Amino acid sequence: MIMRDTDRALVQAATAVAKLRCRSDNHTVAAAVRSTDGRVFSGVNVYHFTGGPCAEVVALGAAATQGAGELETIVAVGDRGRGVLPPCGRCRQVLLDYFPSIKVIVGPPDGLRAIPVADLLPETYVWSDQQVEVPVAARAGVWPTPVVPGSRQAPED
Ligand SMILES: [Zn+2]
Repeated sequence: MIMRDTDRALVQAATAVAKLRCRSDNHTVAAAVRSTDGRVFSGVNVYHFTGGPCAEVVALGAAATQGAGELETIVAVGDRGRGVLPPCGRCRQVLLDYFPSIKVIVGPPDGLRAIPVADLLPETYVWSDQQVEVPVAARAGVWPTPVVPGSRQAPED
């Protein structure tokens, strides 16, 4: 939970990207994520009314693009000096599903802390736990016809 020097450096990295790159309504938040081998990747949100990605997701994509392995800490910083921003619900779920042990830096300027993403999503849906093993034959396209609640069954002769 304690902020390490590397965590403070991550906040500084995201803050620098926010100042440098978030200069229009299209890009208003910057994120920086650190891999377990110490590399830092950053991204900015891409606002669009259809649901453009948050900065955190773009940073994850940048990390993947550059071959990062496991990621250990992420932070998002708002433009115009808004400071560290907590991730939205969708990002919390993405982070938990892809990097269940990642820490997220949250809190006010004088009380920043790096906490496990799971602490931001108590009693959460865990996607990987819900993936039922499906026989190979079923994957090949012979799924049983789903029964839609309330739908009428075809009359049988
Ligand atoms: Zn988000």
